[in-house]
Amino acid sequence: MIKKAEEILKKIFGYNSFRPLQKEVIENILLLKDTLVIMPTGGGKSLTYQIPGLIFEGLTIVVSPLISLMKDQVEQLKELGVNSLFLNSSLSQLDYQYNIEQIKNGKVKLLYVAPETLLLEKTIGLLEKINISCITIDEAHCISEWGHDFRPVYREIATLKPKFPKAVFVALTATATPQVQDDIANNLKLKSSNRFIASFNRDNLFLQVVEKTFPLKQTLNFLEKHKNQSGIIYCFSRNQVDEIYEELDERGFSVKPYHAGLPDKTRMRNQEKFIKDDISIIVATVAFGMGINKPNVRFVIHYDLPKNIESYYQEIGRAGRDGLNADCLLLFGYGDIRKINYFIDQKEGREKLVAKQHLDKLVRYAESYSCRRIPLLTYFGEEYHQENCGTCDNCTRGKSDLIDITIEAQKFMSCVKRTGEIFGAMHIVDVLLGSKNQKVLDKRHDKLSTYGIGKEHHRDVWLSIANQLIVRSYLSKDLDYGSLKITEAGYDVLKGSEKVSGKLEVKTKFEKKSITTINYDKKLFGILRTARKNIADKSGLPPYAIFPDKTLIEMAAYYPQTEKDMLNTHGVGEAKFQKYGAKFILFISNYCKKFNIQSAPTVSYSKTKKTKKTASGNKKLRHEIIGEEIISGKSANEIMAEYKIKFDTLLEHLLKYSYTVAPVKTKGLDNYLKCSKEEKIKVLKLWEEYGIEMLRPIFDAMDEKVNYTDLKILRLKYLYQKGN
Ligand code: ADP
Ligand code: MG
Ligand code: ZN
Repeated sequence: MIKKAEEILKKIFGYNSFRPLQKEVIENILLLKDTLVIMPTGGGKSLTYQIPGLIFEGLTIVVSPLISLMKDQVEQLKELGVNSLFLNSSLSQLDYQYNIEQIKNGKVKLLYVAPETLLLEKTIGLLEKINISCITIDEAHCISEWGHDFRPVYREIATLKPKFPKAVFVALTATATPQVQDDIANNLKLKSSNRFIASFNRDNLFLQVVEKTFPLKQTLNFLEKHKNQSGIIYCFSRNQVDEIYEELDERGFSVKPYHAGLPDKTRMRNQEKFIKDDISIIVATVAFGMGINKPNVRFVIHYDLPKNIESYYQEIGRAGRDGLNADCLLLFGYGDIRKINYFIDQKEGREKLVAKQHLDKLVRYAESYSCRRIPLLTYFGEEYHQENCGTCDNCTRGKSDLIDITIEAQKFMSCVKRTGEIFGAMHIVDVLLGSKNQKVLDKRHDKLSTYGIGKEHHRDVWLSIANQLIVRSYLSKDLDYGSLKITEAGYDVLKGSEKVSGKLEVKTKFEKKSITTINYDKKLFGILRTARKNIADKSGLPPYAIFPDKTLIEMAAYYPQTEKDMLNTHGVGEAKFQKYGAKFILFISNYCKKFNIQSAPTVSYSKTKKTKKTASGNKKLRHEIIGEEIISGKSANEIMAEYKIKFDTLLEHLLKYSYTVAPVKTKGLDNYLKCSKEEKIKVLKLWEEYGIEMLRPIFDAMDEKVNYTDLKILRLKYLYQKGN
């Protein structure tokens, strides 16, 4: 049976391998065991019931809470050539009747319904007469009062169980809290052994937190690095949304606002524009996101502090659903904490306490100097042991840039002491900088010995020092008032018995990660993107329903021009090939002709070695020169010396050469390998399973025993073996 599932994955969806746990879940469902699936957003939950739905003889019903979600899924399935329909209140009487006929005729494999519609007597009456194989409840956290979107009607779905004794029940959600999970399982009477919980680590999301100093400028800098990419900017308030929207709009960004204060029509239109790639950026309050399945969101900026870790995770989770890299930036300002505290203070009792604890955890997350994934995943009850995740700001920043800041620490803390340990960082910094503001003068702090002793550093540097001292517990901060007190460890620093290392620059730099490690032809990608958009607009679909970005990236990297090569491309199944294959082949071959790219090696599958001239003309590119040097038999050491490049750079050039020209023979690189022969053989096999784009899965699969440089060498080797 699972063979069949794999076949469908390839043939219909055009994907090469399952994501983690997908296979296990599908197997379980096919064995007709009720199943609860917990997977993060973008984990690929839909496939796990869609594939069984295609295998089962009878109908699979999918309960979904939002009309927009149903519409999106049905549109995508239809594009894949799967006969699916939905039933909800948005249908006209005529369409409703037509859909009912289709269902009665047994033509439909997957039926999406709103819970209210499903529970209607007439719907149940209809469904009782036909063969129902599976009942799936998507967004199943709606069942639980503890969940963030409780829908009482969801609890009634359980009453259908006795009516459909032959149907297998499947519930899916991205909510991680055990309480909600138990609630779902109890309500639907699912056995615990059939619960599948995937990791909540989304390693394609690059996480960074930056001190909020000049937020607009910081945002503009960030956007500069994400030109033409789709992204969400989350703000705390409607006013803030409007303000940022106007700032960006004025500067010519392709942007729209979204918040509950806008007329329904405008709001829906703006959302639609974002989904259809008519605009790149949406500035929004947290009201935006539910019911959005857009897979190619490339960044999420938190202009203001999110409410708590759970919401933060949900919000950044909307980025990178397609598995390609995405950037998440949190602008972290102490002013925001005060704002949120103000709202928390309006609450009472336990609610207030819980809100404070949530905020505290978030602040600690933001202030942390270690891997961002540790506090995040710990929050979701998951352990994270990786030493360096490679995709967060703290892990990618060298430790070496820490310097001795003991003197600064002493200056700051003695100023805290002199002012009586009742002031916040802002005021302390004013005193250190010798400010003449009213508060300083009123308190006569201009008479203190620490007045003006910190003029050598900018205000932001001092605020950052304050932050570092708090994070390392030399200072404790009152969460209500922000006032600072010196801890015992702090006194050790003041006395000079402990040294402090830290940074004297403000964290405002952004790391830029590329979307994928594949080298692709950006120009061709642009052309294909426009073609996709045109097709999408004509049929009123979002572009991702035609092809995901990754498909276009692969096309722009391998130039597939035959049916076989096209079908080997990610996301191209049989139906999509029938519909769009010829069109895209035409675009690609025209492009290749125009730039004299005679034909290109589709390395991931091609058996023949072909040569290609550069699109940039006849001048040889660096990677071409290096590749040819290696082929001519020069040793890596010689090349490194001659071109003054590092070994890693050499490997990068060779990878590029392998992709764009032809795989290179790597025998000469063997003596750089540190791993054992057994490990080498194992890794070479793993590429097949995991694909060659990302090293990280292989690194994990080898229990972190084979280093990244070795993996890069072995990837070249694999490409060469495949190519021959
Ligand atoms: P979820 O419902 O868990 O948030 P989706 O089911 O919407 O996630 O899947 C997210 C994206 O990942 C979709 O674009 C889907 O086509 C894609 N996807 C799912 N499974 C795979 C797979 N095995 N290989 C490649 N892409 C996949
Ligand atoms: Mg989903
Ligand atoms: Zn990290």
